[in-house]
Amino acid sequence: MNRVRFAPSPTGFLHIGGARTYVFNWFFARSTGGQMVLRIDDTDTGRNTEESLRSILDGLKWLDLPWDEQHSQSDRRSVHVQAAQSLLAGGVAYRDFTAESDTREDRTDGAPWLCNPGMREMSSAESDRRAEAGEPFAVRFRVPRERPDGVAFKDLVLRKQFRKYADIEDFALLRSNGLPTYHLASTVDDGDLKITHVIRGQDHLANTFKHIMLLEALEYDVPTFGHLPLLLGPDGSKLSKRRHGAVVSVTSYRDMGFLPSGFVNYLCLLGWSPKDNREVLTLKEIGDLFQVENVLRTNATVQFGEDGGADQVDPKALWLNGQHLRNMPVEDLLPFAERALRDAGWWDDAFGTGRRDWFAAAVNDLRSRLNLLTDFQLRCRAYFVDDFDFDPKAKENLNKDGVRDLLKRLADRLQGVSDFTEENIEAELRALAAQEQVKAGLLINGSRAALTGQPVGPSAFRVFTLVGQQRAVERLRRA
Ligand code: GLU
Repeated sequence: MNRVRFAPSPTGFLHIGGARTYVFNWFFARSTGGQMVLRIDDTDTGRNTEESLRSILDGLKWLDLPWDEQHSQSDRRSVHVQAAQSLLAGGVAYRDFTAESDTREDRTDGAPWLCNPGMREMSSAESDRRAEAGEPFAVRFRVPRERPDGVAFKDLVLRKQFRKYADIEDFALLRSNGLPTYHLASTVDDGDLKITHVIRGQDHLANTFKHIMLLEALEYDVPTFGHLPLLLGPDGSKLSKRRHGAVVSVTSYRDMGFLPSGFVNYLCLLGWSPKDNREVLTLKEIGDLFQVENVLRTNATVQFGEDGGADQVDPKALWLNGQHLRNMPVEDLLPFAERALRDAGWWDDAFGTGRRDWFAAAVNDLRSRLNLLTDFQLRCRAYFVDDFDFDPKAKENLNKDGVRDLLKRLADRLQGVSDFTEENIEAELRALAAQEQVKAGLLINGSRAALTGQPVGPSAFRVFTLVGQQRAVERLRRA
């Protein structure tokens, strides 16, 4: 069975690049009947924060693509240390007593640093003696430098990859404070958790050569690797919060009013598309179509303005979200709409009980013009509460000659309608227009403005039934 993992470090927020890695892994697992493992890479104890862990979990939960297992690397520290010791005992690793030996030193002649020869060649007797004397040391992997070949593997996305041993430095497994490095912990955990496919960003490609050597030395099955293209900002630089702002953080999309499915659809199109180039895809459709082999090798660009404000979200992301909002079963949308109304303080418990059918019908009619869940708050107020402001364009429609007077007369007629249907409302409105010799449009635009404060919305007569007879009559009079 395929097993994949997503391994965030709790040292920052969940970035859209990280979320895309999660999503690709998830669809790979789902489409092959495999399992998704969430592994918190908390080896860097100095930089981990609780807040970051919470924000990563919040972001992942919001995506609503559940994982099957969860682990924390710090729980397995002794296993990692043991693995380093076994490599040390077998001579595949060695102690490095150089001060600050965790960090590689750059050579002055510009060639890449590979090892400290004095440490690499030290006799085991001397190494043991210095360790026993209490001298601190890091543990490094002994890359078989004398061999002319190197590490080769077939990447799921990038195809053939190769690096000569002569170009790989003796990377650290344990730091001089005794803690495992990312390379060691990640490799041992991938091995022990029986991960079959490691799918991660291209920024990890150089690590993969090291991890393969380490996996082999520890006699684990080597997983298949796939490296995803990077996400770039419109300026061509790698996405970063410092440079591009909040638009890089997953929870910003949640707070802006994205649906998880709309956002996931958007993420998938950053570096992948189905063969027929369709863009609006349900999660089910993505699951059926997704193949990691079809991920592009070129970097993907996220479009937004330099300062990354909420109004500068990639227009494609907004459009896709609008499509999801319109196309999803209305029943699935109701809980999101409820949340939006609760956040605005407009939720009425009756919307979930006695007026539930009305609520579902209102959401269904309103959604055709919305892109974000927050648009329920920004553009639909008058359907849910009685006090609302008038948009300048709506005011203009009300201020047209004689309109307010006509609306009062329309109110009188509508008050008497016994069956408040769209047809009956239309008949009354048209009869009044004919009688007063005005265009029906004048009354239609005027009543929409009076009823909702907005110049646009659901079809004109539908607005009346949504607002309801009594409130419609009051609002026409009040205008
Ligand atoms: N913690 C690493 C990161 O967030 C994980 C990389 C990996 O997938 O191995 O970049």
